[in-house]
Amino acid sequence: MTYPNVKLFINGEWRNAIGGETIPVIDPATEEVIGQIAHARKADLDLALEAAAKGFKVWRETSAFERSKIMRKAADLLRSRAETIAVMMTREQGKPLAQSKMEVMGAADTIDWFAEESRRTYGQIIPARFSGVSQLAMKVPVGPVAAFTPWNFPINQIVRKLSAALSTGCSIIVKAPEETPASPAELIRAFADAGVPAGVVNLVYGVPAEISEYLIPHPVIRKISFTGSTPVGKHLAALAGRHMKRATMELGGHAPAIIFNDADLEKAIEVTAGAKFRNAGQVCVAPTRFLVQDGIADKFLDGFVKAARAIKVGNGLEEGVAMGPLANDRRIPAMEDMINDAVANGAEIKAGGRRIGNKGYFFEPTVVADVPTSAKVMNDEPFGPLAIVNRFSTFEDAIEEANRLPFGLASYAFTGSVKTAHELGRQVEAGMLTINHNGLALPEVPFGGIKDSGYGTEGGSEATEAYLETRFVSQMS
Ligand code: NAD
Repeated sequence: MTYPNVKLFINGEWRNAIGGETIPVIDPATEEVIGQIAHARKADLDLALEAAAKGFKVWRETSAFERSKIMRKAADLLRSRAETIAVMMTREQGKPLAQSKMEVMGAADTIDWFAEESRRTYGQIIPARFSGVSQLAMKVPVGPVAAFTPWNFPINQIVRKLSAALSTGCSIIVKAPEETPASPAELIRAFADAGVPAGVVNLVYGVPAEISEYLIPHPVIRKISFTGSTPVGKHLAALAGRHMKRATMELGGHAPAIIFNDADLEKAIEVTAGAKFRNAGQVCVAPTRFLVQDGIADKFLDGFVKAARAIKVGNGLEEGVAMGPLANDRRIPAMEDMINDAVANGAEIKAGGRRIGNKGYFFEPTVVADVPTSAKVMNDEPFGPLAIVNRFSTFEDAIEEANRLPFGLASYAFTGSVKTAHELGRQVEAGMLTINHNGLALPEVPFGGIKDSGYGTEGGSEATEAYLETRFVSQMS
């Protein structure tokens, strides 16, 4: 299948950049240039801002019932196009086709869920002190949104922001990932084809810093949502703060997976290996620090290493491939650097550790054991197929290590004890904890971090709050 050239979507039209500039797209499995995307500069962004301002006026006056209907139609269109979109995603991002398809279908579920929430944007009537007075607390859309999203889940990272914005009556400018642009464009197309009015949804690509520095301070934009690394998130949150803009920040993680002596070992290995190597480990909620209690540490390591070695790595378009290439050339030296540094600090490589071949960004599923806290990988997000397996003795030791880092996004635990599970829920400093299974990232449950992993949730009933403001009206008859 040929990969499309991707245009900007502004004011209901697919268009080239005014200056005619383009950015090449590379297939990470072959390193070949497979397409071009339109590169927006300030003149294009001005058009997008004008469109978003106009679109907001139309969309906020569109009834929640009608908005919900259009969103559901977009979800259906997306489902019906899932096969084609999945191929585009695998070509631009590398993940196996089945994972791409699951991402598209999952996105449709997310749209449906937010479409339902749209009809439940309730305010309050507050009992008044005086007869004849009505006190109304109303929820109104905050205004045009600027959303910035990364390349690891080209559609999924956008769909939560886009759906929350549209369900509440906001318009949006999406700055989608330049490295994986075609599948996000198809997500936008589903909304356009479903009947979202011109200007409500706009899509741009370009130099991320250039676009964020221009959009965030701009008076048209009232709300920012960013997913990416913690350093960039801190920079953008500061910029948003300086201009008094609401912001949601979904940033990096370094998830602990705590496995106790009384855990179901086979299940723990199966679930955590799946979560670690999915999307080649380029997942903010992937387990990274495996903390295994002394009594089962050897058995766990043995089983986990076997699971890592059994993973078939290859071009995501090929049948039976479970892990594709890393998404871009930056991840290869990043992996090599972290592994070399871990070994220099005394860690042992138990599986993988090297790039595969020299064409395509393939890397072996890697397991390192007995890694001291002085090693880089124990402190920085590896964002790749790299697992650390360390030991602990007591519950307190595990909690201390789990909470040692400034991150607090996802966490995992396996235990047969209800008491231990209960204590974990109270003591692990993370926005999300999943015990004895992988239950994260469904549309209807909270999704977000604490500490340096950001603020705000992009799932669950609270997710629309970030796109609404409360206005109070007191009225005497
Ligand atoms: P990066 O920090 O340069 O970019 C991360 C993301 O932020 C990209 O999507 C990029 O386009 C965007 N970005 C960067 N600077 C920006 C700016 N000034 N304004 C707006 N957007 C900006 O690094 P990278 O090489 O693309 O990825 C490396 C690291 O980023 C990973 O190690 C990981 O920690 C983090 N990351 C996190 C997620 C996530 O899901 N939380 C996704 C992708 C990358």
